[in-house]
Amino acid sequence: MRIWLSRPHMSGEERKLVEEAFDSNFVAPIGPMLNRFEAEFAEYLGGDVHCVAVSSGTAALHMALRLNGVERGDTVWTTSMTFAGGAFPLIYQGATPVFFDLCPESWTMCPNLLEESLEKAAKEGKLPKAVVPTDLYGQSCDLDRFEAACAKHGVALVIDSAESAGALYKDRKAGSGGDASILSFNGNKIITTSGGGMFVSKSKEMADRARFLSTQARENAPHYQHETYGYNYRLSNISAAIGVGQLHVLDERATRRREIFGRYKAALGDIAGVTFMPSPNWSTSTNWLSAATFNPEEGPLEREKIRLTLLEREIEARPLWKPMHMQPLFDGVEYVGSGLDERLFRDGLCLPSGSDMSNDEQNEVIGVIQGLAAA
Ligand SMILES: *Cc1c(COP(=O)(O)O)cnc(C)c1O
Repeated sequence: MRIWLSRPHMSGEERKLVEEAFDSNFVAPIGPMLNRFEAEFAEYLGGDVHCVAVSSGTAALHMALRLNGVERGDTVWTTSMTFAGGAFPLIYQGATPVFFDLCPESWTMCPNLLEESLEKAAKEGKLPKAVVPTDLYGQSCDLDRFEAACAKHGVALVIDSAESAGALYKDRKAGSGGDASILSFNGNKIITTSGGGMFVSKSKEMADRARFLSTQARENAPHYQHETYGYNYRLSNISAAIGVGQLHVLDERATRRREIFGRYKAALGDIAGVTFMPSPNWSTSTNWLSAATFNPEEGPLEREKIRLTLLEREIEARPLWKPMHMQPLFDGVEYVGSGLDERLFRDGLCLPSGSDMSNDEQNEVIGVIQGLAAA
């Protein structure tokens, strides 16, 4: 592969920080870099939140569900169009998912559907234990409406902001909302710790509890004392050193990804049948991945044709997430919506979006697609 969908993009500072961590001999799951990463990230998110760095976004979400009271047999409402790591933790907790559709103005979980469904569920005494909207491809969900609707019905709200580090919802940083939020620093995300994630909450108590659970639930005693079970989920001090360096360039990376999205849109947006991910006025997306749909009934382009032609040129592009309610794993699970996510999956493609991609490389991608449109 010559041009990747999204790959790690180091600034150079990470190497120095890792060396510093080595020199201090904190080659362990805790240490000064980990504390620094959490403190600097909390400050980045606005200062009124507490951060707990863990080994993955999936791990962070698992703990967020548990800490918000999700237990075996509970129902959790979540976005159907998401990555599996956003849905698997529901299974870890033994919860029953209900999958929700997106809305056309943002391609994030539909707040209209949520509000209607909560009203109905409240009347029937069937409220979910938690709601987990996903911030898709760098775009925050309509946070105010989710927070208001969940607060009205006393339902926990956990935001899966794994894909939206660096984004804004109005003037709030993505990853700081709800009762808890989670972020991912997997290798393909906008910044990476070579695998990692963050649990974020305004509640210090909940964050302290997450820190406790992520380090094997060791009670305060000289021997190993356990009153509940925990996880080995803490991020290593070495990975955190990479994270500190990456955090320092997060805004720069977001700016570059927005630029890439803008260039694709300017070059391809006027072709019949092509629709780029919308930008509602409350959202400043990072455009982590440049997503668009290519409707073959309305224009000359067809998703698979584009994907395979790019692949022949060693250029990686991928369909949008396959909705969870279409996955064999979730056969028979309840779905609320009208299939916008199914249509986005059918016609949608994520184009190469790495912040280290040059304009020349992007022009090559654009040229291939323009060539197909003209053929
Ligand atoms: C990446 C991702 C996750 C999981 O994060 P990991 O760090 O890979 O475990 C969860 N939800 C969404 C929406 C993601 O994109």
